[in-house]
Amino acid sequence: MIYLDNAATTRVLPEVFEAMRPWFCDCYANPSGIYRFASEAKAAVENARRQVARVLGVSEREIYFTGGGSESDNWALKAAAEASRSKGNHIITTRIEHHAILHTCQWLEKQGWDVTYLEVDGAGRVDPAAVRDAIRPDTILISVMTANNEIGTIEPIGEIGEIARSRGILFHTDAVQAFGHIPIPVQEWKVDMLSASGHKFHGPKGAGFLYVRKGIPLPPLIHGGSQERNRRAGTTNVPGIVGMGKAAEICLDHMEEWKKKQEELRDYMIQRIKEEIPCCELNGEKERRLPNNINMSFRFVEGESLLIMLDSRGVAASAGSACTSGSLDPSHVLLAIGCSHERAQSSLRMTLSEETTRDEAEETIRILKESVERLRSMSPLYNKYMEKTN
Ligand SMILES: *Cc1c(COP(=O)(O)O)cnc(C)c1O
Repeated sequence: MIYLDNAATTRVLPEVFEAMRPWFCDCYANPSGIYRFASEAKAAVENARRQVARVLGVSEREIYFTGGGSESDNWALKAAAEASRSKGNHIITTRIEHHAILHTCQWLEKQGWDVTYLEVDGAGRVDPAAVRDAIRPDTILISVMTANNEIGTIEPIGEIGEIARSRGILFHTDAVQAFGHIPIPVQEWKVDMLSASGHKFHGPKGAGFLYVRKGIPLPPLIHGGSQERNRRAGTTNVPGIVGMGKAAEICLDHMEEWKKKQEELRDYMIQRIKEEIPCCELNGEKERRLPNNINMSFRFVEGESLLIMLDSRGVAASAGSACTSGSLDPSHVLLAIGCSHERAQSSLRMTLSEETTRDEAEETIRILKESVERLRSMSPLYNKYMEKTN
């Protein structure tokens, strides 16, 4: 199998798995215990907190462990809303956020919050000036993702952070696709809250974190025990957190090298596909793009059919986000950047990892070319188009 769906989830690296192993059957203590056995587990969790904090250049006291990206997003928005209720009830976000943000915003709207969903340009970029213009006296929170999960566009987080900070408005970013893959200088970018998830950077599923800048109030989302400084109840997921910490450390050590490697392979694949397959277009921006993201539309081809054909030949890809595939609705992200329904329905997302090889890329291009040709040969629209152009 050629796995090109790393935006959906990544492989747990063997070193990460080895780091997790002792915390299942050997040192399985609840870190809240007061015996030595427990303090070992507690120390491992605190070490992971430092490993994660180091990637962002922040203090480990600003990291709160969660059950993943969706939980971190829910927590950031609901906590900010609750803590700022007396100041106002307006939230600014964008049309291209992950559903963990969009559906939380819709829920908040039902609770009486007012949400502005900013438009983006044709490349999926949020205009910082549009953020500034959307600010009202009652705006309490701005949430803009660091990088988009479908088209890979990297947002101008530093510029938006500057605006938010100067107006005294909380700024959250969903960095689930970006953390561990590109540098995120949160202090320089003036980010107040940031969400990330272990399984998107070679850690295990079910472990994530929320960064919350010192001094920002953080009401709990999950009530119960006193874990995570009384903010997030529930017995600590020691193996998951240890694995996520190890993965963060590895990603930090290799960031430049892996980023460059993937960018080269990404650009090579886009170039070759454009040369070899007629009537295809890149979705999103060419430059400010996640190192591993390729999202292209193939005219006269149904994305779902293409996926099935690729799968039958051993290539695992996606037609949008994992959450939207299975439904027939076109991707909200592709519609937001101005794609027609047709172009959105004919899209294919391939997301690489640093483990993707040149041979796999060549094989994928060959299979993709044959699959697109086959599907088009069955399309009356394509045949009519060819008759007209010839
Ligand atoms: C995957 C993803 C999430 C959700 O993370 P989980 O850990 O799967 O809950 C949120 N936001 C973005 C941008 C994502 O890519």
